[in-house]
Amino acid sequence: MAVQQNKVSKSRRNNRRAHDALVAVNPNECSNCGELKRPHHVCPSCGHYDDREVVAMTDDADFDDEDAA
Ligand SMILES: [Zn+2]
Repeated sequence: MAVQQNKVSKSRRNNRRAHDALVAVNPNECSNCGELKRPHHVCPSCGHYDDREVVAMTDDADFDDEDAA
């Protein structure tokens, strides 16, 4: 087992962790449906990207394999 040679002080530990904060996402409005979406990502609610439908959205998608085949 690796053993550290010197104790890391609270100050040094906390200084290291000073850069660990998470940054909040910066959502944009979808140009098709107006829903908030992540920039440079396909809209999760309507499947559009750059005013073009790139992911077909249906209401009755069944991803359950149990009753298939
Ligand atoms: Zn959308």
